[in-house]
Amino acid sequence: MSSELPRTLEQYRHAVRAHELSAEEYLDETRQLIERGDPQVKAFLHLRLDAARSDAQAADPSSPLAGAPIAVKDNIMMAGERCTCGSRILEHYVAPYSATVVQSLLAAGAVVPGKTNLDEFAMGSSTENSAFFPTHNPADLSRVPGGSSGGSTAAVAAGFALGAIGSDTGGSVRQPAAFCGVVGFKPTYGLVSRYGLVAFGSSLDCIGPIARSVRDAALMMNVMAAHDPKDATSVRRSPVDFEAALQPTLAGKRVGIIRELQGLDVQPEIAAAMETTRKAAVKSGASLVDVSLPHILSALPVYYIIAPAECSANLGRFDGVRYGLHEDGRDMTETYSKTRNAGFGTEVKRRILIGAFVLSAGYYDAYYKKASSVRQLITDELDAALQSADVLLTPTTPTTAFRLGAVTDPLEMYKADVFTIPANLAGVPAISFPAGKDAAGLPIGLQLMGPRWSDADILSCANVLFTALGGES
Ligand code: GLN
Repeated sequence: MSSELPRTLEQYRHAVRAHELSAEEYLDETRQLIERGDPQVKAFLHLRLDAARSDAQAADPSSPLAGAPIAVKDNIMMAGERCTCGSRILEHYVAPYSATVVQSLLAAGAVVPGKTNLDEFAMGSSTENSAFFPTHNPADLSRVPGGSSGGSTAAVAAGFALGAIGSDTGGSVRQPAAFCGVVGFKPTYGLVSRYGLVAFGSSLDCIGPIARSVRDAALMMNVMAAHDPKDATSVRRSPVDFEAALQPTLAGKRVGIIRELQGLDVQPEIAAAMETTRKAAVKSGASLVDVSLPHILSALPVYYIIAPAECSANLGRFDGVRYGLHEDGRDMTETYSKTRNAGFGTEVKRRILIGAFVLSAGYYDAYYKKASSVRQLITDELDAALQSADVLLTPTTPTTAFRLGAVTDPLEMYKADVFTIPANLAGVPAISFPAGKDAAGLPIGLQLMGPRWSDADILSCANVLFTALGGES
């Protein structure tokens, strides 16, 4: 084995195919990194390194993922493994089947080293809402990795996996990717199957790849994107080779800058990274266009009505009878109430209560219905803006990673999602890619959004910018 371990999935694949490295050797190196580093980072809720080693031994070196370790967020099911969703209510729940994406990754030769930590039921932006423990940011252990896929992004950033999958309902793949200095991609709604993902907000949820380079995210998308009859919202499209679609320049591309977001308070180094990236885009052949989305700033309040409404319905299934924790009561109502009170954490309870309130008879029109109309307005505006621009460039987050425990007000925490939520409301693809560091050395992430089904184009544009800014191609 060469002394330099491959940094990216692409380099790994190359080394394995050239017989310079075996999947088992790489997994043994990964195991050492995990054993040394994870007691501090705490990316994983459960490890399965022995099973992963046997899988690596059996992996076909010529398969697309060639035995590469890919970590799985613990709200995505893998048969025979626990799937806790970061919640006490599912603490001992074992998945009876695998999510379609997990099956696809395994069939393509991936091995799963473990299931990663998350905010309970993916509700949060820091991974501090996990019922078990918070995850720490590998770039600075006193800081959060972002959330809710904080375990998956920290695992990729720390070298515990070559890639990971997460779920993105309002930014949970992109925001932690920005905080940890890795790539996070939210595909077009309907491109990747949600079958086997524990539902949070079903009209918003997407599974996406987390990787060390944009090319690696494209490689993972080649395996993950497919029509799935088991997910009614999965769309049948002709297959795309996302890696082959990567172009060397932005020639002819119009990069849109959203006027209404210019006034927002962002950390100065993030504003500077936007400026550097705008220049890099022009140097790579793009033109800049100014676009207006008059209702985009309503995306945050709209999301925090629609997502809780959907979660209050989806989480109704955790009743202490069918799944997970069960607390005995005198009758059915008391059993439900005792189980749910003991099983759910504060943020999940808050969302269920908000959701039940906005859907209740007297408030449905004023909240849920109104939010749904504004969602449509934002979607129409985004679609119109994406006629005059091919991609939209924004920061991924207003700040870099904050310290553990620093954000205690839920509304403050919700604001971390201001840039990422519009893509979920509209179902369009969006990517966060690393774009430098702030004065404290913390990673900065920027976001590109594009029209529905322009996933290959978004990956291509992000790859040009990411490599122009010094990232690995
Ligand atoms: N941070 C957002 C929330 O708390 C988004 C979460 C997500 O995408 N799963 O809802």
